[in-house]
Amino acid sequence: MAGVTAREILASSLNMKRKTLITGGAGFIGSHLCEALLHRGDEVFVIDDLSTGRLENIAHLRDDPNFHLSVGTILDLACLETMVRKCDRIVHLAAVVGVKKIIQAPVETIETNVLGSHNVLTLAARYGKLCLVASTSEVYGKSSKHPFAEDDDVVYGATTKSRWSYACSKAIDEFLALAYHNAENLPVIIARMFNTTGPRQTGRYGMVLPRFVDQALRGDTITVYGTGQQSRCFADVSDVVRALRLLLEQPAAIGQVFNIGNPEETSILDLAWAVKRHAQSDSQIRLIPYDQAYKPGFEDMQRRVPNIDKISRLVGFRPKIQLKEIVDRMIESRRQELQEAIPLRVTADLPSRALPAGALE
Ligand code: NAD
Repeated sequence: MAGVTAREILASSLNMKRKTLITGGAGFIGSHLCEALLHRGDEVFVIDDLSTGRLENIAHLRDDPNFHLSVGTILDLACLETMVRKCDRIVHLAAVVGVKKIIQAPVETIETNVLGSHNVLTLAARYGKLCLVASTSEVYGKSSKHPFAEDDDVVYGATTKSRWSYACSKAIDEFLALAYHNAENLPVIIARMFNTTGPRQTGRYGMVLPRFVDQALRGDTITVYGTGQQSRCFADVSDVVRALRLLLEQPAAIGQVFNIGNPEETSILDLAWAVKRHAQSDSQIRLIPYDQAYKPGFEDMQRRVPNIDKISRLVGFRPKIQLKEIVDRMIESRRQELQEAIPLRVTADLPSRALPAGALE
């Protein structure tokens, strides 16, 4: 880092073909970001252990000479170092994601999200690479202030409730990234994403919208956890990827935290009805208590609404796709996937790997 300012690193990479390392690039958001950067003519390197990512997500990118996949884990420092050295900047998306997975795999969650991020940031600092760190609205915890703004306090439950370990692990990532920025002038950007959805998000792990859509399309009961009165705000992945790209290209974003999301709010029960209606489904809708869906004593947030003034002011970001269209797009994409169920072409350099059972939301 000696002698080079954060802004110089970013400015030097503008307007030229950039080499971006995307950790978790075979995942839902990562695969869309790969596509967008390749479309712009950039070179993209992906490291992904395929734990929740899928080869199908990136199969269409394989023949692009600017696309490079390494199947490996960010916990393997040597493997990660090889990738970091090749790139100009890093988008760090790899994580154990979602509440249910976190409850099922608490050690893996904390190790991947804390030690993995530590590896990424250490190497970013060693080689002086811009690093955008993916964080989450979970970081706000169960604060009742709404909408959430970046400098608001965070409120967590007891450490005996393992669901908070996801929020805490991501908060540690934020602290560490900001510490590297303050102590070593490392150019970091923190993207606190709210619920993101769209094509390629799988219902396999229970993410709420694809799960509802799959249930509706199959004619199964649509299962709503809790009272259904809890609300969420959903952003389409194309809007989120645009926001990430705008931040990556804005020198003034360095050293800062940004909410990314769509403030349009819906209760989860209303979402279930919207899915049923738009999919023209005969499915029943049934409420499942949290302690059956997760485990006794499970805590959830009632609302989670982003204040996106900060990112709007800096880079002019506003979401373009609203909930009705988000639901329609998800129905269309899940309908195609369920109908086609195209067998994946797997070759030696892209090994297939069983995905873990389980669900997350
Ligand atoms: P995803 O599960 O599709 O993507 C995560 C990717 O990381 C997967 O491809 C997975 O295989 C990979 N991965 C996990 N552990 C790894 C490891 N040790 N080494 C290498 N790769 C590993 O989920 P996503 O929704 O695309 O999430 C991407 C990022 O965005 C995550 O950091 C998540 O916390 C954040 N985020 C997502 C949402 C959302 O609603 N989807 C909201 C807020 C934040």
